[in-house]
Amino acid sequence: MRIKVLGCYGGQLLGFRLTSFLVNDSILLDAGSPTEALTLEEQHGIRHICISHTHLDHIKDIAFIADNRSLKRLGGNQNNRTVTIHSLPENNQMMKKHFLNGDIWPDFTLIPNEQDGILKLQDFKPEVSFVLDGVRITPIEVNHPVPCTGFLLDQDGKQFIYTADTGNTDRIWEIANAQPNLKGIILDCSFPNAYQHLADISGHMTPNGIRTDLQKFERLGSVPVYLYHMKPESLDIMTAEIEALDVPHLRMLTQVDELLI
Ligand SMILES: [Zn+2]
Ligand SMILES: [Zn+2]
Repeated sequence: MRIKVLGCYGGQLLGFRLTSFLVNDSILLDAGSPTEALTLEEQHGIRHICISHTHLDHIKDIAFIADNRSLKRLGGNQNNRTVTIHSLPENNQMMKKHFLNGDIWPDFTLIPNEQDGILKLQDFKPEVSFVLDGVRITPIEVNHPVPCTGFLLDQDGKQFIYTADTGNTDRIWEIANAQPNLKGIILDCSFPNAYQHLADISGHMTPNGIRTDLQKFERLGSVPVYLYHMKPESLDIMTAEIEALDVPHLRMLTQVDELLI
């Protein structure tokens, strides 16, 4: 399994892209920034997008991925151009109602026609696995102000977890501890410690917050933990606060990271 970081920040600034991870060239975990990070040909390789939740920083590029495929598709290439969006039923309904609704953006589930839309919305259920292009994916509910799932990925007997946006949470750590061959975790760490209250009310974590959560992880120190969703303007202070935790194999992701599992 290969996980390419397209964007890993909780804010969009020049040089800092929003959350999006590309798995094996064809599966996207969240859609904050693929059209900023990938060539058109690379974008055409995407077959599936797993959406953790409907906050704009995780869905916005669904709009532009779909738009970028429309000309190619309408121009005659009809092969495998559909992108299937996988999310909780309430999240798919939310996107259909408020985002791909013909007002904010065209409803690409109906373009070029309803039977064969560029986008297809597919519901999943928490802790019910499904397989996409050889990767077994299990959504796991986490702690965020809107319905949100992290994802357990499993391919070739190796597992990887992406928590998605979350405050302190339990279930995903139970599942992490139960994996036979877990190779890494991508974990929310959004704000510096001084903004703990903001983290609490917005369903995110600070370095102090992750210190609490990492105590639930039985393989801490041997399995790498990668942090994402940092606010770009607070990277310096967060770097110091994370170093002060003094946990081996704990570090912030960067946009040049490519994780080979
Ligand atoms: Zn969020
Ligand atoms: Zn977010």
